[in-house]
Amino acid sequence: MTGPGKALGARVTTRVTTRVTRHTSTLRGRWHLGRIRSWHDQVGAGRQNGQVSAPASTPASTPASTPASGGALPRSALDPAIAARLRHDVRGLVPAIAQQWDTGEVLMLGWMDDEALHRTLTTGRVTYFSRSRDEYWRKGDTSGHVQLVRSVSLDCDGDAILVQVDQVGPACHTGTRTCFDTRGVPVRGADGRPVSGS
Ligand SMILES: [Zn+2]
Repeated sequence: MTGPGKALGARVTTRVTTRVTRHTSTLRGRWHLGRIRSWHDQVGAGRQNGQVSAPASTPASTPASTPASGGALPRSALDPAIAARLRHDVRGLVPAIAQQWDTGEVLMLGWMDDEALHRTLTTGRVTYFSRSRDEYWRKGDTSGHVQLVRSVSLDCDGDAILVQVDQVGPACHTGTRTCFDTRGVPVRGADGRPVSGS
């Protein structure tokens, strides 16, 4: 191929490359926006009533945690196709439910951003993002109660993650097998009578 044909080929290549680059920057932009919002929300959580609810576990008087680096945030290596399926909250996070893969036990609930999910998908261990400490947290690093990843699913609209794991030891930091053990609350059925087992 010579002359005009070659030039056309070059033009098409340029156009496609530009489009891919643009798409990638949109995704990166969105991710960074999420991170910036995350920082903003934590700083402003104490004074912005109603707009963004602070985590229930964080007392209102506790100062928002300081962004760890304050500088450039790491860019997540999560596959953009997977990232695009997620519906992040205003902090860039998605709730992740951990379930024991063989017994079906619901073990705990944690939070993941794109990078935590990426690490979970590629290292064999579950990594969460701690909202209170504002940092990544690989389950079991301090306790030894690791979670070995067996499978990961996104729910129908991408706003929740199910991680099936092999849990070593108790999942809860209080020492119970799951975060829900011995914490039942009374339930009444449609007939007003206590539901047995609740
Ligand atoms: Zn717990």
